[in-house]
Order: sequence, then C-alpha cells, then structure tokens
Amino acid sequence: MSFRRIEKKLISGKRLSPQDAVELYRSDDIFGLGLLADARARELNGDRVYFVRNRHINPTNICINRCRFCAFSRSRGEDGAYEMTMDDIMRRASECGPDTRELHIVGGLHPDWPFSFYTDMLGGIKSRFPHLHIKAFTAVEIDYLTKLSGLGLRKTINALIDAGLGSMPGGGAEILGQGVRRKICPEKVSGARWIEVMRAAHKAGLKTNATMLYGHVEKIEDRVDHMLKLRELQDETGGFNAFIPLAYQPENTRMDGGSRTSAFDDLKTIAVARLFLDNFPHIKAYWVMLGVKIAQIALSFGADDMDGTVIEEKIAHMAGGSSPEAMEIGALADLIRRAGKTPVERNAVYNPVERKRSTTTATDSRAYE
Ligand code: SF4
Repeated sequence: MSFRRIEKKLISGKRLSPQDAVELYRSDDIFGLGLLADARARELNGDRVYFVRNRHINPTNICINRCRFCAFSRSRGEDGAYEMTMDDIMRRASECGPDTRELHIVGGLHPDWPFSFYTDMLGGIKSRFPHLHIKAFTAVEIDYLTKLSGLGLRKTINALIDAGLGSMPGGGAEILGQGVRRKICPEKVSGARWIEVMRAAHKAGLKTNATMLYGHVEKIEDRVDHMLKLRELQDETGGFNAFIPLAYQPENTRMDGGSRTSAFDDLKTIAVARLFLDNFPHIKAYWVMLGVKIAQIALSFGADDMDGTVIEEKIAHMAGGSSPEAMEIGALADLIRRAGKTPVERNAVYNPVERKRSTTTATDSRAYE
C-alpha cells in the first residue's frame, strides 16, 4: 500500500475508490493514515471540534425486533423491560436546562403504542420546551411508524415534522449489506429500506446522521461497501451531517462470542471514514462507545465532533459500555482543548451556538470558554 499514491490522489482532488479504502484499512501505518485523515479534517473544519449540550431519552426498550446484537431491547414482560409514560418523558425533558440544545430520542419498536403516542410526544415537548430541538427516530423506527400511521413514508415523515421533529439520528444502519444483516439483525428493515427512508427524510428537509456498527461479523469490504452506499446517497441528497462509527459492544447480546474492537481498529475506522466519505461534513468520535481516551485520540485521526453531554445513555451501557453515562460540558471542552483543538459548542444541526456574554451584547459564536 502506498500512502504516496493515495496522498497524490487526495491532493489532486480525486475520490478514493472502495479498493483504496480497503488498502488503507489493511495498512499498519496507523500514523501515516492518521496524518492523511487529520489533514483532510483540517481542510474541512480547521482545528474546530464540535460538541452539543444534549440529553438522551429512550422511551422504551420493548421491541418487536430483538436484533441479536442488541443488549438494550427486551420483550414485553421480560426482566428489565420498561416503558415510560408520557409524564416520564416530559419530566426528563423538563430536566434540561435552558442551554440544552438537543433531545436525542430513540427506542424500541413498541408493539402497542399507536402513532399518536409519537406525535403527542413530539408536540408535548415542543409546546412545553420550545427551545429544545428534537432529534428523534432511527430510520428503522420511521419505517415502523409508517406502518402504524398507514400514511405512507412521505406523509408519515411530514406528520412527524409538523408535530415537532427537527432532525434524525443515524441509527439502525448497522452494516447495510444484506449478507451481514441476515446474520446480526434479520428482523430489521433491509439496508435498501434504510437508505430509502433516509432519502425520503432528506427530501422532506430533515438533516440526519448515519452510523455504522462495526467489529462483529463483518469484513473490511462490508464496511467499505456500507460507506460507499452512504457516500452515494449523500451525493444525491446532501442530507447527512455526520458519520458515526459505533464500535460493537459484545456484552449481554445474543451473538456468539465476539470481543471488543481494538484501539487500532477504532482509529483506522475514523481515519478511513474521513478520507473516503469526502462529502460528509463531520465525522463523530462517539465517546460513549469508543471510551473517552480513544475518542480524544480520534480527534487527531479525522474526527471533528464529540457528540455531547449525552445524559442518561442506556443503549451502549446495557451492552457493557464502560464510559461514563454523561459528561460535564467543561470536561468535554477540556478534553478537546487538551487534544490541541478548539472546542466549539454547536446546536443539533451543527450551527455554532451564539453565547451571549454577560456584560455586553456581543456574542461568541466560536470558541467555548
Ligand atoms: S437494535 Fe433497535 S430495532 Fe433492533 S432490537 Fe434493538 S431497539 Fe429493537
């Protein structure tokens, strides 16, 4: 593998081919790869690293799918199954301070909740806490809500937007290739349907993210194929904000064996993503899954976003995630600064937050102090 060849390609503005991405993955020159990816990240975002004050709400873990890799879900009546009432959800939303920018809401596919539960939830939050941007529902949930509403995909998305949906996260993508999906989540919508839902969301004006669950049964080629599908959709719609590689957490799942990903694999994945997904504005180092220290190092391997304060993360922690369940805003900014980058607080859709200084009307839209 020649970094020189790939570097030349990048300098001349040529796109990396899937074969280039596989070669980068197979290389052991982790520092060479990091340098290339960091240079590309700096071209796109300077030394800025974004973060958001956010809170997670997972309204239920009862799910009709029961994907084999998912330690979060339960069947109804099973030990550990829970469902929040509307009051529970509103109470959690009410705990967000005035500076919280984003509510991240995803959960299981509940067998009994009607479509109106979801529109009432969005509407209830927006009417009580209009400052909160609601980023909610994976493409898998949107597909399920479409079945519940009976309205078809486009009208379902529009009904959710009318009720208060502001953007969508990127979950449920796992690995988009059907061969891998059959092994880890045969009940889940196909990769093609995931793409179809995202296309419809983008066309309806929603920004979304895109994830990739890696480190289970997939091959490097499956990862690159996954990223290629995302790159193609992004060429078409421009609707993705961030790509978020999610390291597989093996504990408490129904998959045989499996181990945690290595730091080498995590960093290579961030770097290859930064170089291959040339049309994605942001690559996220999700500290909840990577662990705080690897996420910090990932900021020198092409990542320019660290997600946020999170608060009450359940999904990764039920799979044995050992990172904290929340992070103070100051700790997050400090972590970024100590990596030699400039922390920038953003809102849910990556606009820098304008922070009013107490003594003047001037605003600081860039550096977090
Ligand atoms: S990954 Fe999502 S769809 Fe699959 S079982 Fe877990 S909550 Fe349900």
